[in-house]
Amino acid sequence: MCGIVGYAGYQPAAPFLLEGLQKLEYRGYDSAGIAVFSDKVRTMKSQGRLATLREKVDAAGGIPGTLGIGHTRWATHGAPNDINSHPHSSMTGRITVVHNGIIENYIPLKEELQAEGIVFRSETDTEVVAQLFDKLYDGDLVGTLIQVVGKIRGSYALGILCKDYPDTLLAVRKDSPMIIGLGEHENYIASDIPAVLDHTRNYYLLNDNEIAIIKADSVELLDLDRNPIHHDVYTVDYDISAAEKGGYDYFMMKEIKEQPNALRTCIGSRIQNGKIQLDKIRLTEEQIKNMGRIHIVACGSAWHAAMVGKYVIEELTRIPVEVDLASEFRYRRPILKPNDLCITISQSGETADTLAALREARANNVHVLSIVNAVGSSIARESDDVLYTMAGPEIAVATTKGYTTQLAVLYLVALKFGMIRDTIPAKLAEKLLHDLEALPDQLESLFNDEEALKQLAKDHQARGTEKTRNNVFIIGRGIDYGASLESSLKLKEISYVHSEAYAAGELKHGTISLIEEGTLVVAVATQKPLYEKLISNVKEVKARGAYVVAIVREGCTDVESVADQVFYIPNTSDLFTSTLTVVPMQLFAYYTAIELGCDVDKPRNLAKSVTVE
Ligand code: GLU
Repeated sequence: MCGIVGYAGYQPAAPFLLEGLQKLEYRGYDSAGIAVFSDKVRTMKSQGRLATLREKVDAAGGIPGTLGIGHTRWATHGAPNDINSHPHSSMTGRITVVHNGIIENYIPLKEELQAEGIVFRSETDTEVVAQLFDKLYDGDLVGTLIQVVGKIRGSYALGILCKDYPDTLLAVRKDSPMIIGLGEHENYIASDIPAVLDHTRNYYLLNDNEIAIIKADSVELLDLDRNPIHHDVYTVDYDISAAEKGGYDYFMMKEIKEQPNALRTCIGSRIQNGKIQLDKIRLTEEQIKNMGRIHIVACGSAWHAAMVGKYVIEELTRIPVEVDLASEFRYRRPILKPNDLCITISQSGETADTLAALREARANNVHVLSIVNAVGSSIARESDDVLYTMAGPEIAVATTKGYTTQLAVLYLVALKFGMIRDTIPAKLAEKLLHDLEALPDQLESLFNDEEALKQLAKDHQARGTEKTRNNVFIIGRGIDYGASLESSLKLKEISYVHSEAYAAGELKHGTISLIEEGTLVVAVATQKPLYEKLISNVKEVKARGAYVVAIVREGCTDVESVADQVFYIPNTSDLFTSTLTVVPMQLFAYYTAIELGCDVDKPRNLAKSVTVE
């Protein structure tokens, strides 16, 4: 959420800042700005897309200077307008900051500063940092920053410029991501690696409560007692092209199409000679055998993966699984026992609520295993064990390969635990392993339906009333219900069409009143024991005028007599169908968004990694 970049070097800073921000656009934002230091700090900012800021900068003939900071804002405090956009400067103009996160105690701090005659320009919490820094400033840049950090509460990644230090960029973080890129006679700060990838592959990961003093030829890292810190240099090991569109119109489509390969890597690297190798996790066989309960904690699509994971893990291990939304878990005093396991799931590894939930679990002495895509992210670093999803960088805000690889890791965990606990008969285990390995090719075969789904999206927009076009129901039972939650979110996120996932048996307990002539109902029916029950539900909605699209297994052709249109998925175990049923819906959501002229990769109001609670 939001993007920060900073540059200290000998080249003009503004072009780097604008380019870097562009690479962070995927994180979601509503306004952007940069500040560059030469004889003084010049700031330019604007509401809306980065292109608007770029035009402003170009119209001014650029901004001179080789030291600067930039920001894409996802407003939390104050409307997304020019004034509230970052960077923010103190009243005297001495201090300029960019900030990602929330300063929770900004109101009392602001009141105190206002009482002393300091005039605020914006409504943001961030401006408090600039004003407070200036007020406490005594010529000692680092000393003042330490004082500021002592006074502010909340989450922050901060990039700071001071008029008295024309060669220095200062950074600090707490609960918000920040990396320090290491170049040749230039160094950078950024919220994420893609921002610096055109310039360097080497970087430090800044930890909470660490300060970085960045100049063209040096990077100094200190703790809050001013002790020097040593960090290993990380090197990016993926190809730059992985963070580029590669011929596709949108990252989302590229990432949908990358799913077979992502799954091959994620699954293939962990199955050897009929055995599952769960990386080098510390969790012992003893712990797995004596496990009391599993708590899966996540947000958004990762929570949807957890909903499917619950069915699979319970079925294969007979360990009770509770699934929690991280934002609820962290505040509800969950009942945690020492022999429980907490699984946290997050694509970015920076999801603020999930990170807080992880800390809550660890504080209760519960072992935390995380399923994360971003290597070296905060959640990965703070967990007892990490299983990476190995999906490669995911740029589109709406997750696709991130979600399907999370599912794959959950399947692997369920199978491995079940084998250790002896809850899966040997023959079944063998079949499940085989089915798991077949998933990438099976998923790939679903792309054959792309044209038909594109047409379905077109037809849906051409049919019915405004109301029926904008209200879609996705129904399923068991695992199909779990997958429907994710399918429904895809549609909402990128096309703004309202849709609801419903456990099919629940429909008649109220929501069926919303079905009218022409309402689109997608019925997902892949669970063999539940198939006939779902067909009955289809009949119920058909009787009320619904237009029904069914997603079923190959061979279930009888559904053609009740549904208006049918999409088939290849045969696999009942436990693994979600990986396949979600794909037609990813494509349907994508083409609906295209049909409606939406910005597929950067849907309104959304951010890729939600680093505020
Ligand atoms: N809380 C700050 C604001 O609303 C920063 C938001 C962000 O992380 O972009 O301006």
